[in-house]
Amino acid sequence: MNATDLRPHLLAFASRPHLPETQALAGTMALAPRRRGPWRAPVAGLGARELDVLLLSYFPAAAPLRPLLQIWREEAEAAPRQGLDEFDELVALLLAHDARPGPDSRWLACAVATASMADNHLWQDLGLPSRAELNTLMQTRFTALKLKNAGDMKWKKFFYRQLCEQAEVLICKSPSCAACNDYGVCFGPED
Ligand code: SF4
Repeated sequence: MNATDLRPHLLAFASRPHLPETQALAGTMALAPRRRGPWRAPVAGLGARELDVLLLSYFPAAAPLRPLLQIWREEAEAAPRQGLDEFDELVALLLAHDARPGPDSRWLACAVATASMADNHLWQDLGLPSRAELNTLMQTRFTALKLKNAGDMKWKKFFYRQLCEQAEVLICKSPSCAACNDYGVCFGPED
């Protein structure tokens, strides 16, 4: 089964397929084979038990897919991580802004961080239909971050900027976005 096939199967097995949380988790897991190294895990950062609990909670009828997902997880776990990948910092940033702390908070934070390690726009790497669903997910689950991103900066750029500010690293070439030559890189449509 390839990545394109897996998402609809997962959603068919989901208890609440309409939720942005469900769609983001399904998309992140389905797109695992398109990521590199340790990010080829269904959801990086989750061990075998956590992945099983996630599947039981969000995709209770997905038992037939469990062996495949666990194989992907084991293969990814065997891959070395590069020195500075920012994954753990991003998970921590998301959890620090968790609006609905619960058992699924870590699964979602790890899924968003996993997708952030891929190469496309974040909504695409989460397998969501558009940026609108990603904004809904951020509004619902990471509300304070959504409020901080009042200018609707591209999410990967926004996360990176937040982590740089935390580390007191200056990445911006201009004191204001409006006057910056990189405005189009950080803002604008993501089609
Ligand atoms: S537009 Fe320029 S100033 Fe604004 S976040 Fe991007 S790089 Fe920084």
